[in-house]
Amino acid sequence: MKRIEISGAESRIGQKNQAIAFCQTLWYTEKNFGTNQNPMEITSPKARLRALPSVSELLLQARVQELLPKFPRSIVLNAIREALDALREKIMAGDYPPSTSKKMTVSALLDRITDHVNKSARPHLQKVINATGIIIHTNLGRAPLSSPLLEHLCAIAGGYCNLEYDLEKGERGSRHVHMETILKDLTGAESALVVNNNAAAVLVTLNTLAASREVIVSRGELIEIGGAFRLPDVMKHSGCILREVGTTNRTRLSDYREAISPETALLLTSHTSNYRILGFTEQVPLKELATLGRQHHIAVVKDLGSGSFVDLSPFGLKDEPTVSATLRSGVDLVTFSGDKLLGGPQAGVIVGKKKYLDPIKQNALLRAVRIDKFTVAALEYTLREYQDIDKALRSVPVLQMLACPLDEIKRKAARLYRRLKKSVADAFEIGLANDISYPGGGALPLQSLPTRVVTLVPKSFSVTEFDNRLRQCRPPIIARVSQEKLIIDVRTVFANEIPMISQALETLL
Ligand SMILES: *Cc1c(COP(=O)(O)O)cnc(C)c1O
Repeated sequence: MKRIEISGAESRIGQKNQAIAFCQTLWYTEKNFGTNQNPMEITSPKARLRALPSVSELLLQARVQELLPKFPRSIVLNAIREALDALREKIMAGDYPPSTSKKMTVSALLDRITDHVNKSARPHLQKVINATGIIIHTNLGRAPLSSPLLEHLCAIAGGYCNLEYDLEKGERGSRHVHMETILKDLTGAESALVVNNNAAAVLVTLNTLAASREVIVSRGELIEIGGAFRLPDVMKHSGCILREVGTTNRTRLSDYREAISPETALLLTSHTSNYRILGFTEQVPLKELATLGRQHHIAVVKDLGSGSFVDLSPFGLKDEPTVSATLRSGVDLVTFSGDKLLGGPQAGVIVGKKKYLDPIKQNALLRAVRIDKFTVAALEYTLREYQDIDKALRSVPVLQMLACPLDEIKRKAARLYRRLKKSVADAFEIGLANDISYPGGGALPLQSLPTRVVTLVPKSFSVTEFDNRLRQCRPPIIARVSQEKLIIDVRTVFANEIPMISQALETLL
């Protein structure tokens, strides 16, 4: 029986090695794996490497044989090679105890192979639970989208749509018409254009209006946003010449005025999204900069970054200018992201004067940064939500989380607390505390929102270990560690994720 099984599996590897592998396997199985033979005599790394089981031997192990009908053979083979490579590296580095028996080695290899196969059979991109309280978390995919929006997205993406088809005329149309009118209505702009992301919006704007000419920027605004958006680099790639004015902490209108020359194409000002210069500072009000540009017939562009459509000061978030207020200050163009405070899909929006947007719309670069049907569908849907601001505050998840009253957050935290008290109180010290959430996404850097968190301290392992284990859960839970406690900020946890967290904690134990 055994003989038939082994040769059957082995025939898949190749006839030629069959007999040899067969004999080797029997030798391993009977002489080594079965006994807890102490391989103390095998001490040199080379000898230990030679003693490792081969790929074909591991293939014949029962636990691997169980994987083969369930997963593609290539994934199983890769997992075996990966496990062997990792062990070889460990042996070479001298951090694999020589006293480990062959049986234990094989068993550890099989664990690693099984784990690797299970992991690689799942999509690498997966849902996570954001328990950090950072609403627009760039590392966690920024803005989550609502269920009704996703339904619309499915209907559009699951079939054909009029992406570039004019249904009235029955001829080719433009993908941009779906959003332009509503963007103009919502912001009061003369014209609008949507590209792949805000970095691309800045790039095509500068490339169209300022290639080979000078762009004046305040030194205090030469920003780098997380993920390496460096304004000076984007400017270089757009082909324009950066002309810095002022100092890091103070730039005056006269600095801009004195730098203007026949070479000047544009005045660029940027939201210093993720930092703030405090103390002895001076910035030029947007209105004055816009007037200066107009006097010299030079375009003034504001890279707003977040681009909110709603005044967020009633929710405790001051100093974030809305897109329409920014346009009213007189600047010619404003650029912003679709997936920051707007709460839509990744996109870059340019709104402003027609005379500047018309040439941008003709730029050949647009083809390289154009948006697909997913973005058109999701952005148009999101923009429509803003036609009724009260509705948007309830239905756009980013706004919902920003505007969520503290009482409601407290109730959510209490719900999680009670569940955990019931299920895992033996293993953790569980508490409730007041804390702070952040909008994130480079938006509103110094602004914070009061929140209520659940704190957990494991009784039998470290908080760091706990944090690591939470990231291995399905779905992974991304939390914060602060002062030797694990912090779960429920502001960014959806209601249906509360039972998932308590279940994950039970399984993790
Ligand atoms: C976020 C941000 C960007 C980059 O926007 P993406 O949509 O990530 O490309 C550029 N400028 C500012 C001021 C930002 O805040």
